[in-house]
Amino acid sequence: MSTKKTRRNFFQSITASGLATGLLSSKNAFAKGDAPLRPSYMNPEGDRYIDPRNVLLYECTRREIRERINSGQLKAAIIPTGSTEHHNEHIAMVMDIATSLLISQHAALKVFPQAIVTTPVAIGYSPYWMERQGTLTLRKDIFLGVVYDICCSMKTHGIDTILIVNGHGGNVKPLKEAAPDFSSELNIKIEACSYWDSFPKDRWREFIDVGIVAGHAGEFETSIALAAFPERVHRVTYEGTDPYKWDVDRKDLERVGYYKESFDTPESDRSNFEESKHASAEKGERIIAHAVNWLANKLQKMIG
Ligand SMILES: [Zn+2]
Repeated sequence: MSTKKTRRNFFQSITASGLATGLLSSKNAFAKGDAPLRPSYMNPEGDRYIDPRNVLLYECTRREIRERINSGQLKAAIIPTGSTEHHNEHIAMVMDIATSLLISQHAALKVFPQAIVTTPVAIGYSPYWMERQGTLTLRKDIFLGVVYDICCSMKTHGIDTILIVNGHGGNVKPLKEAAPDFSSELNIKIEACSYWDSFPKDRWREFIDVGIVAGHAGEFETSIALAAFPERVHRVTYEGTDPYKWDVDRKDLERVGYYKESFDTPESDRSNFEESKHASAEKGERIIAHAVNWLANKLQKMIG
């Protein structure tokens, strides 16, 4: 099979999942006979085709969810978390949540019908990026409150195993600290991880050439975006722009809890941009496949 053909199949599979543009209008957009070829991680049992929307809670009817819970088939929920924040000059702000949703969805497909992916939490804890225009941030307790209430909702419906799958660096610490408390308070299994936990440092070079995992809009993330949603990567140059020129009102910044992170400097911003030039869709496919498999295994262990 030529590389070109493989690439096309990959794009088709992602489009079929409804994630390339966020949502598809009709659940029946792909008749069974039109099911596209899929990369291996999307098709766990040979010819079995699962409509990728079947694992998204907000794409299901109450009847579908009721029947799957009552029959004992549906045992676990995945809550994708991410952010709406600048990703340098070249990637759309949806990057983190689009990635955690994508990887969660494919992991749920691998363990189908045991897991459902909840509505994603598309705004995270990003106060330190508020000097970059476009970023949205939630206060830490508000962010954790939303995640907690989703856990409560799923427990109410009879789900006792929840995996929070994060795609944004600022959420890592709050989620790691809160997950054990959520779990003991609700008396159900709740764990939190980030999809990049699947890449131990000694294996980074199997996936990327120069960058770090996860990096901010560098080789790693740009590769994922090129593989999964290339229309969100803009081939711009850094020349002639000065993203640090904007004179933000300090009082407004204080209101949203701004603080300076050491990794936010004009030099690091520029070097992340340069590093992103090493990204490729092929790297992104390998990264996504690895993270999906890792996550599906983790989830299966939690379900038991
Ligand atoms: Zn990111």
